[in-house]
Amino acid sequence: MALRSPAPKSPGRRTRFPLPAKTCHMTERFDVLVLGAGLAGLSAANRLRKHGLRVLVLEAAAHPGGLAGSHTIKTQWGEFDYDNGPHRFHTTDQHVKDEAMALLGDDIHWANRQSRIFLYNRFFHYPLQGGNVIRNLPPLVLVKSFLDYLAVKVRNLFAPRPDSNFENWVVNRFGRKLYDVFFGTYTEKTWGIPCTRISADWAAQRISLLSLWDTVKKTLFRPKDKNVPRTYVSKFFYPKRGGIGTLCQRYVEELRRGGAQVHLSSPVRQVHVQAGRVVGVTADTPEGARRFEADRVLSTIPVTTLVRLLDPPAPAEVVGHANALKHRSMIFVYLILNRAKVTDDHWIYLPEQKLTTHRLSEFKNFSPDAAPADKTLLCAEITCDFEDVKWRKTDEELQAIVVKDLDSIGLVKASEVLHTFSRRERYAYPIYDLEYRGHRDALLDHVGSIQGLDTTGRQGLFKYNNMDHSIGMGLAAADNLIGQGDDHRKVASEQQYFG
Ligand SMILES: Cc1cc2nc3c(=O)[nH]c(=O)nc-3n(C[C@H](O)[C@H](O)[C@H](O)COP(=O)(O)OP(=O)(O)OC[C@H]3O[C@@H](n4cnc5c(N)ncnc54)[C@H](O)[C@@H]3O)c2cc1C
Repeated sequence: MALRSPAPKSPGRRTRFPLPAKTCHMTERFDVLVLGAGLAGLSAANRLRKHGLRVLVLEAAAHPGGLAGSHTIKTQWGEFDYDNGPHRFHTTDQHVKDEAMALLGDDIHWANRQSRIFLYNRFFHYPLQGGNVIRNLPPLVLVKSFLDYLAVKVRNLFAPRPDSNFENWVVNRFGRKLYDVFFGTYTEKTWGIPCTRISADWAAQRISLLSLWDTVKKTLFRPKDKNVPRTYVSKFFYPKRGGIGTLCQRYVEELRRGGAQVHLSSPVRQVHVQAGRVVGVTADTPEGARRFEADRVLSTIPVTTLVRLLDPPAPAEVVGHANALKHRSMIFVYLILNRAKVTDDHWIYLPEQKLTTHRLSEFKNFSPDAAPADKTLLCAEITCDFEDVKWRKTDEELQAIVVKDLDSIGLVKASEVLHTFSRRERYAYPIYDLEYRGHRDALLDHVGSIQGLDTTGRQGLFKYNNMDHSIGMGLAAADNLIGQGDDHRKVASEQQYFG
């Protein structure tokens, strides 16, 4: 499709957001503007490009990938690939799997999933293994867990309690003791709010550790059906080099080869609406503020941000709903160690409150090519709130916290640390508190009321979903836009267990 001639220079208008000193007045027209170059935005853009549409992707960061972005650090010890926390790609959607595998071609490493939980100064294999559980769990805790489980089953027969929040949901299924020792502490540590304030949606949908009891049952009590596996093993694929962000890098290459444009370092500052229709956006590009026009805008940026960017502004009531939705932020502390490997795990859960780190991952175990043979890189995750006291700590302070944590559980010694650095992610987890649904739905309704504007992906739908879901949402949203396919909002729908 041919480019329309640029519009004549506008006289410069007042905006609600400060614009950079350099302002470029050129306007360009596209069929579709895609906001955000994470997996949802890029998969949508590439599908639209394949449909023959003229597409522009606008991304705030200098690097594509969003949450599933990766980086490579070049050091005197060699190159290390790292992600924003551990990213294991798995999907039950063959179409999405084919899409991801086609992007990577031969650059795929297959890994066997391996994770452990550190609790009671011991490591528990996850999924649990019977002998390991019986050896490691203090006997009283094991007996109490079992009795509590039986007690809740009996109670549920006569006086069932509603699944009114995360705590009730878990206690109803696993009993109080198991909830206390694992689910409660880990969840409160990760989310920073009491489990009674967290929606049961999240438990039903997302917490992978909910298979704990199933696995114990399968391990300890042999299933009647001999074909049912006693533990589950899952394989997943991962890029040999470049980290999980290679998926998005490949999307960008394909988009650009196919004639679509991807502007990085170009945060969208305004989304323009006229007479109830979206007409374009203004972004701060490296060349200055630029206006891009299109009748269709597909946003994958946080929906809470999107409604604040609307021009004219959204009603105060809608902005109030955006203010009420909260995200949990995350600090990633990376340690390069003078050691070939620390563990064979992809990640280790650290539920205990005495440790600030809540999860630890080692990228070499995702792909052996991710680090030099004699060195390794670890990522320690610390959850926090945006700009709280943890968020504002220096690299040195964070390193001290993480090394102390890891030393106390015997994993890392300070003398092994060659280099450390950190990254911060403001919009890591959408918080499913007890009121989130009403606020989210109000935002989605408002966006839905603007013709030509749609929102999708994890941030766009305020949904705690996986990478494969974001790809699925992007592909479906692109199909919806040209009047085909199933509703993209059905992807990763609420009661589905993501595993
Ligand atoms: C710590 C962690 C571990 C995870 N592990 C896994 C895992 O093991 N397996 C799995 O399947 N999933 C995992 N996920 C989830 C996965 O990362 C996400 O579901 C997926 O990457 C979301 O993609 P998205 O495109 O929907 O959103 P995002 O990746 O968030 O993309 C949104 C994009 O919009 C951009 N943006 C924001 N504001 C603007 C603006 N004003 N203008 C322009 N651009 C803007 C952002 O910079 C970003 O690039 C994990 C997530 C986290 C946080």
